Amino acid sequence: MTATAVLSVASEIYPLIKTGGLADVAGALPAALAREDVVIRTLLPGYPAVMSKLESAEPARAYPSLFGGPANVLAGRAAGLDLFVVEAPHLFDRIGNPYLGPDGRDWGDNALRFAALARVGADLGKGAIPGYTPDIVHAHDWQAALAPVYLHYDGGPRPKTVLTIHNLAFQGHFPGSILHAIGLPPRAMSIDGVEYFHGVGYLKGGLQFADRITTVSPTYAREILTSDFGMALDGLLRARASDVEGIVNGIDDTVWNPATDAALAVNYSALRIDMRVRNKAALQQRFGLTVAAQAPLFGVVSRLTHQKGLDLLLEELPDVVARGGQLALLGSGEKPLEDGFRAAAAAHPGSIACIFGYDEGLSHLLQAGVDFVLVPSRFEPCGLTQLYGLRYGATPIVARVGGLADTVIDANDAALSAGVATGVQFAPPSTPALAYALKRAFALYADDAAMRRTRLNGMRADVSWRGPAKRYAALYRALARSEQ
Ligand code: ADP
Repeated sequence: MTATAVLSVASEIYPLIKTGGLADVAGALPAALAREDVVIRTLLPGYPAVMSKLESAEPARAYPSLFGGPANVLAGRAAGLDLFVVEAPHLFDRIGNPYLGPDGRDWGDNALRFAALARVGADLGKGAIPGYTPDIVHAHDWQAALAPVYLHYDGGPRPKTVLTIHNLAFQGHFPGSILHAIGLPPRAMSIDGVEYFHGVGYLKGGLQFADRITTVSPTYAREILTSDFGMALDGLLRARASDVEGIVNGIDDTVWNPATDAALAVNYSALRIDMRVRNKAALQQRFGLTVAAQAPLFGVVSRLTHQKGLDLLLEELPDVVARGGQLALLGSGEKPLEDGFRAAAAAHPGSIACIFGYDEGLSHLLQAGVDFVLVPSRFEPCGLTQLYGLRYGATPIVARVGGLADTVIDANDAALSAGVATGVQFAPPSTPALAYALKRAFALYADDAAMRRTRLNGMRADVSWRGPAKRYAALYRALARSEQ
C-alpha cells in the first residue's frame, strides 16, 4: 500500500503562529497521521513568524504576479513540520496577528491575502511543483476554503478535497466586487457558487465544492445542520449532510502530562493522585484564595465571551460560595464579563478570585489544582479545556453541546454504577440547568469514592490524537480511492 499524500492548507499552525484551535489541529495532524501512513505537507502564508523559522528553504515555484505582486512558493521545514510557504511580501510580510492590523481591525485586503493562499493550494494540488502530486487537498476554515472552489472552476483533473470547519462563526464574507480580483469567473457569482448574501462567501464556496466536509466533533457536525447552530449556512450544510463528518480533536499528551509538566507545584499521575492536593494548595495560594484542602474548588480557563456562557456562572456564584465552594478564574475578554467577575471576587474575598490575562503556565497549574473545571458554553465546536481537565484529574462540568457532549461521560446513576463517569453535563445552557449541575457536583464531591473514581476515569480516558488520527486516515483513504 502506498502512503496517502495530503496537502494541508492552513492560515496558522502551532507552534509557528497561533490564534486558536485551528493552529493546534494543523500542527498536530502531520505527526499523528505519519503513524497511519499518511504524509502531510502544510501550505502556509509567509508571515514573518514563519519566514524567520524556515530551514533549508528552496524555491519551488515562482508567480510573476499573485494578486498584486510577485510571489514564490518555498519548500522547507520549521519546528519539525514539512512546509510549503507562500512568500508574498505584499500580502504577508506583516508582523503580529495574521488577520488583524495594528488597529485591531481586519486587514483591508484579507480577501486577497487568503484567496492567494487558496489559489496556491489549488495549483499545488494540481501538480504545479514537479514531483509533488497530493491525493488530497485539505483546506482549513474560510481562509483556505477557496482551494476547492478554484479546483472546481479551473476544470480538468484535480485531487480530492476536504474542508474542515473549526468554528462556523467565522465565514470570510466579502463584497461581490472582489470576484474578478481573486480570479474567479463571473459564473461563480451564483447561488450554486460563491454568492452569499449578495457578496462572496469563502466558507460558503468551500462548503459547496469540497468533496468532504469535516468539523471537530460529531455533535457539532449534527448541530450545524440546524438553524440554531448553523449560522445561516445550515441550509447548504443540510444539502450536503451525507458528506459531513465530525472528528474530535485530540490534545498533545506530551505537553499536557501531569507526570512531567514543569508548570506544576508537584507532578503526579493516576497512580499518585493523592499528590494532586499540593497543586490545589499552590493554586489557592497563587490566586489568593483561602488555602483549604476540603473546599470544593471550581476553575475556569477561558476567553470571556458570550459563546462561553460564563454569564450563567456569574449568577450562580453566591450559591457556590454559600455551599463552601471556591472559584479560580483565568481569562480575558469582554469587559462586562470581566467587571462581573471582578465584582464577585470583591464580594467574596478568599472564595472567588480572578486573574485576567493569558497565562499558559498558570492554565496548567489551574488544571492540576482545581477539583472541577467549568465549561458552560452555549456552543462549542470541540473544546480543549475539558480535555485538559480530564487528563489532569479536574472533573469537567460542561454544557451538553458540541464536542463537550462527545468527550465527557455524565455522572448519572447508570454511569456511576457502571464505573464509567468522567464529569457532569447539563442542558440546556441556562442558569437553572447549571445550578442543578453544580448541586450534583457538590454531591459527587461529598462522596469520596465516587469522586475519586470519576477523576481517575477522566485521567485514564484517551484524549490523545491517536483515535482522531485513525478517523482522518480512514477518511483520506476512502476519498483517495473514490471516483471523481
Ligand atoms: P476556544 O478555541 O473557543 O477559545 P478551546 O477550549 O477550544 O476554546 O481552546 C481554548 C484554549 O485556550 C485552551 O488551550 C485554553 O487552555 C486556552 N486558554 C483560554 N484562555 C486562556 C487564558 N486566559 N490563559 C491561558 N490559556 C487560555
